[in-house]
This record gives sequence, C-alpha cells and structure tokens, in this order.
Amino acid sequence: MNQTPRSVLAFGAHPDDIESAIGGVLLRHRREGGSVMAVLLTAEPASRLVEAEAAAAILDVQIRCLGLRDGGLWEQADLVPRLRRCMDEFRPDRIYTHWPLDAHPDHQACGMATFRAWLQLSGSDIPRLFCYEVVLGNQTTAFSPTHYVNVTEFTEPKKRALFCHASQRPDETFYPTHEAMMKLRGLECGCETAEAFVEVFRRPVHARERYMF
Ligand SMILES: [Zn+2]
Repeated sequence: MNQTPRSVLAFGAHPDDIESAIGGVLLRHRREGGSVMAVLLTAEPASRLVEAEAAAAILDVQIRCLGLRDGGLWEQADLVPRLRRCMDEFRPDRIYTHWPLDAHPDHQACGMATFRAWLQLSGSDIPRLFCYEVVLGNQTTAFSPTHYVNVTEFTEPKKRALFCHASQRPDETFYPTHEAMMKLRGLECGCETAEAFVEVFRRPVHARERYMF
C-alpha cells in the first residue's frame, strides 16, 4: 500500500469494528493528510455511538451512523444503495470494509454490500477496495492477507480509541484480542504490530499464479 489516498471511506457494521480493525491505518492516513470518513451501519444502544464518537475524535476521523438495525443487516433491502450513496457523496480513492467470510451475519452483509456497491462504480478512478479482519479465529475466517501495514507507532492512540468502548469491557477480552492480532500480523511481516488486509480486484490480473489449474 504505497499510494497515499486523499480520501478514505471506511464501513463498519458496529461501532467498534472500524477502529479495532484499522485504527492504526486510519491514524496513518490522517498523518499523511488524507480525509477519513468512518461510516457505522448500526449503533445500538445509542450510547455506543457516543463511545464511537469519542474513539473517532482520538483517531481524528469524521464519523457517520446510518442508524440501521443491529443484527438485521441481511434483511436491509436497500443496504447496497445506501452504501453506494456514501461512495457517490465522498468519492473516496480508497475503501475499507469487512471481509465477508465472517461468522457474524452483520459483518457478512456489510462486506458483501460494500463489494456489490463498489462493483457498480465505473470510470477511470474506481477506488481501491480493501477488506479487513475483525476477531480472527472467532469471527473472521479464511482470511489470507495480501497487504500488511506496520502500525507500531500508532499502537498507543489506537489503544486509547479502543478503550473508549467501555461497554465492550476493553480490559477483559476486547483489547487483548486485538493486541494479539496486531502482534501476530506484525510477526508475519517483520515488525512489532501490524494490520492486515485483502485487496479485492475486479480482474485477476495480479493473481495469475494463484490459479488452481
Ligand atoms: Zn462487529
């Protein structure tokens, strides 16, 4: 990921998904001058939006909540058009979303709806699409990273952002889980902590060697 985007759009099903998955990368985008809009699809109860707003302030990103029903994204008939409208409004040159092979139905729906909305985009400036992982080994599955980002220098502010989610009891399993994930990804790419991604391509031009037959 050596291109520096000007405008970044991140989708997350729930109030803590974006910062726990890509808080370090978003901090790096902000340091490099990119604008970042974090779009939460749900925030229930409303107090969780307050937590997410506090986390967004630490990450220095804009935040918007679509106000959809937690646990009901699969049943949201206009989910794809809603995400498409966000893309049309913010005109990002990079999009982050859930990896859709995830045990949580809302994560599946968010990831797949983002993919379907992204497929509708046309022209020469189609944003790059990266999928992120959430709780590895529990929710995210079959995730084989194509890209890593060293987030060692952003670990502390990311931790402070995650601790804004007091309702998730961050000192019990929430933060230790994400800290372990960052260290695992760091081991894989040779740094202290990292965040990992799968880039989605429209054509398999970068993956010919991955053909199975
Ligand atoms: Zn979630």
